[in-house]
Amino acid sequence: MSIALSASGTPKTQTTRSYAARAVREPLAPFTFERREPLPHDIVIDILYCGVCHSDIHQARDEWGGSLFPMVPGHEIAGRVVAVGGQATKFKVGDLAAVGCFVDSCRVCPSCKEGLEQYCEGGMTATYNARDKAGEPTYGGYSERIVVDEGYALKVSEKLDLAAAAPLLCAGITLYSPLRHWKAGPGKKVGIVGIGGLGHMGVKFARAFGAHVVLFTTSPGKVEDGKRLGAHEVVISTDPDAVAKHAGTFDLIVDAVSAEHDLNAYLKLLKRDGTHVLVGVPEKPSPVHAFSVIIGRKSLAGSCIGGIAETQEMLDFCAEKGIVSDVEIIPIQKINEAYERMIKGDVKYRFVIDMASLKQGA
Ligand code: NAP
Ligand code: ZN
Repeated sequence: MSIALSASGTPKTQTTRSYAARAVREPLAPFTFERREPLPHDIVIDILYCGVCHSDIHQARDEWGGSLFPMVPGHEIAGRVVAVGGQATKFKVGDLAAVGCFVDSCRVCPSCKEGLEQYCEGGMTATYNARDKAGEPTYGGYSERIVVDEGYALKVSEKLDLAAAAPLLCAGITLYSPLRHWKAGPGKKVGIVGIGGLGHMGVKFARAFGAHVVLFTTSPGKVEDGKRLGAHEVVISTDPDAVAKHAGTFDLIVDAVSAEHDLNAYLKLLKRDGTHVLVGVPEKPSPVHAFSVIIGRKSLAGSCIGGIAETQEMLDFCAEKGIVSDVEIIPIQKINEAYERMIKGDVKYRFVIDMASLKQGA
């Protein structure tokens, strides 16, 4: 029997079932591929749960351009270690392990050395829709296992509900990082725009950090949930009078909206020297008038997930405080329906795939 080899000569013998998009805008469907045999520093994770991020939809539909097909999405991966390479020391068989949005980076640039691998100057290797250093396509977490360098895997406390912890690997860290960087805390008024997977974690973290939290939502049906999750105030963002009441009052706004919306309206809400941080990545660019930032010396900024060290810090913080995502668990066979519901803003607040459904072939 001949064994397939990766471009670097590593045997690829880990036959792996998954769901993939075969081409742009095609519904996801069963797909089998080979993962590499573990290298000395690799671990093999049996994936138990994988969260569904709006980025999965943007990429499967090629809304950001450059998508690679077939594509196995999924970068909120949680499971158990089933094998370790000969030189792996961080994990042992049986440990819980998680993987987020990237599986490698150059490791030598200033950003990598500072633990900010997400800003790797050579470009991080995304968990899916990318090519690894050997030139092989990366495939994500809508699959039964992943083989990953243990330095890019995270530890998850047994105290946390694993299904509800999976979204922390992207939605969680993407809000935790800017809220820490721009110092959300006591005495600060913090806005979160959009309550989907990312936004609901923003409300939880901003509240846990001690800030005054205001949620902006287009969905009247999410007002009570917004308060239950930690918002002190909830504003319906389609009501201009309700929004205008907050003019000039925010230290920080984190914007987690996945579709086009008016940034100028939010910039008006900042205090002098306030910052509006984009984490959502709509398909189309948003025009910003120069006066929106000139008047009041305001900043329009962005933030991308978080590095490995900060992601571990966030997971440990969540274990200590008992913070997880609010999730709706689905079998993988419902993934296309879940995408349609997310596009309508109809998810409370993160879909998580129970990967047993893939293994059972149900
Ligand atoms: P999601 O669960 O679908 O939530 C997006 C929310 O945006 C919706 O729940 C809705 O909230 C709001 N929204 C949707 N359409 C809107 C519209 N036309 N106008 C105003 N608000 C609208 O998505 P997600 O997974 O949280 O991801 C959000 C965005 O962040 C995506 O673009 C994703 O690609 C991006 N992302 C960025 C990073 C990063 O590192 N920066 C990481 C992960 C994801 P309401 O119902 O409350 O209005
Ligand atoms: Zn994501």
